[in-house]
Amino acid sequence: MIVRMKMGVPKETIDEVVRRIESLGLKPELSRGTDSLVIGVIGDTHAVDDDLFREIEGVGSVHRITRAYKLVSREFRPETRRISFGGLTTGDGSVAIIAGPCSIEGREMILELASEVQAAGAQALRGGAYKPRTSPYAFQGLGAEGLRYLAEARERTGLPIVTEATGTNLHPLAGGALEERRILDQVVETADVVQIGARNMKSYGLLEETARLSAVARKPVLLKRGEAASLEEFLLAAEYLAVHGNEDVILCLRGIRTFETKDFQRYTSDLAGIPILKRQSNLPVFFDPSHATGDRHLVRDVALAAVAAGADGLLIETHANPQKAWSDGQQCVTPAELAAIVADVRKIEAIRPKTL
Ligand code: PEP
Ligand code: MN
Repeated sequence: MIVRMKMGVPKETIDEVVRRIESLGLKPELSRGTDSLVIGVIGDTHAVDDDLFREIEGVGSVHRITRAYKLVSREFRPETRRISFGGLTTGDGSVAIIAGPCSIEGREMILELASEVQAAGAQALRGGAYKPRTSPYAFQGLGAEGLRYLAEARERTGLPIVTEATGTNLHPLAGGALEERRILDQVVETADVVQIGARNMKSYGLLEETARLSAVARKPVLLKRGEAASLEEFLLAAEYLAVHGNEDVILCLRGIRTFETKDFQRYTSDLAGIPILKRQSNLPVFFDPSHATGDRHLVRDVALAAVAAGADGLLIETHANPQKAWSDGQQCVTPAELAAIVADVRKIEAIRPKTL
């Protein structure tokens, strides 16, 4: 439910609305737009009588949000949320380029690649220290060691870093011992943006814990769409993060599972999801053409289509020697290919119609 206040109402009136919301055991969420003040009523409002607010002098209108998601909806906040990290701002109409390897393979590797993707035009560095692998026998990431290398790459280049928190568990080390600190704690401490991967989009406990910790650390969350999750489920996962304390959420589409096979494309690019999510939500929407296609020969074309469709950012897996990559090599572009993609992205960005 949304209570829209009339222009220039005194503070006492706002306080009165807030008091009534709280007396019902619900949570008020104030949102000031350029020319309006709306108060969101968060919680189960089924049994609440709209007239309870309408009768207050100074209330302009009372409106029920029809969607299950509220805080992240454009109905609740008409302006796109601007999210800043490490000197980069998204949600302002520009296209942010985040590039780097699927997984961090070593110190030299990430330090060199960080400089190369920066020279190619990337504005943030991605790289997994903790990897959610389908097979338990596959490389699981360097863990805390990888995070240290990633932080060193940030120090050297100034690029903010985006890396995934795969869980609240302790990461296993090579010899069978466990790291001392939980994966999530370490990622929140080091990352500039905490990535929650497709496989975890519905790990509601992880979403809640990530929201709480990242809010305290003031770090945004990049949430990927589950490979078999509907757009509504995706938005509700973002709502979990928002309602548990962190509204700085970047949505990232990364392809969905259909009847296609790996011979042609790993997933199916959910490009229409970009304008749909931008219409329905107030969050920036990114696209990951690497996982969406699973094929480096398709990354450029799909990346450009995503930008034309209004994407606020791209996540592009890049590797100096894709054939030798420890994970997802078939979909990694080289730094030179990344530079060519970024040049084309900037051309489309310059002529694309203004989106929400
Ligand atoms: C990744 O970004 O490397 C990754 C594992 O992505 P997703 O969660 O989209 O599969
Ligand atoms: Mn990957």
